[in-house]
Amino acid sequence: MRLLLIEDEKKVSDLVARALRAESYAIDVAEDGARGWQLAQSYEYDLIILDLMLPELSGAELLRRIRRDNQQVPILVLTARAATADKVQQFEAGTDDYLTKPFAVAELIMRVKALLRRGPIARSSVLRVGDLEVDRLSKQVRRGGRRIELTAKEYALLEYLAANPGRVFSRTMIIEHVWDQSFEGLTNIVDVYVRHLRSKVDDPFPVKLIRTVRGVGYGLAESTEG
Ligand code: CA
Repeated sequence: MRLLLIEDEKKVSDLVARALRAESYAIDVAEDGARGWQLAQSYEYDLIILDLMLPELSGAELLRRIRRDNQQVPILVLTARAATADKVQQFEAGTDDYLTKPFAVAELIMRVKALLRRGPIARSSVLRVGDLEVDRLSKQVRRGGRRIELTAKEYALLEYLAANPGRVFSRTMIIEHVWDQSFEGLTNIVDVYVRHLRSKVDDPFPVKLIRTVRGVGYGLAESTEG
């Protein structure tokens, strides 16, 4: 197992590197973002530990670049910023775990081991049906590269259908997945939402993706033949 540690505080990197080597991991240390990026491109690491506040190239930028190239490598972020918004942003950018400074080295080791046990992470957050893209992480929908604005419920319905293209879902199944237990309306709410969805996802495009199967329910076309 070969790990990359990108951390400019020598005290921290020495401590972490020593502890990881004691656990028999090979570990390369980069003291700034530019060097970290250079190493990340040069070797295939099993895991990357990344400090967010770095000279040369910020940790956030580095995270974006690493994820653009390599979807699989687990990334553990070290951060002094503990605000929830920051954490959410990091996870959206492709962080697998984070530790807030100051941290106990024993906890870092534990988290590293847990991430390595999971192995390379399948991270395809984007569902694709024809030219439709549903990004489950950012909750953004595009068709033919064009952004489509949906309400939360419309999005949830589309995501449910897009996860299984070609499959037909009954109104009851859709309600159970897209609405919650407090829903007491009629199942024709599904028809209403499918209509909304169609007007945004299908109407502006020549190829229609949303299928109605009479007496059964709705689905997304598996192929884009109509
Ligand atoms: Ca730092």
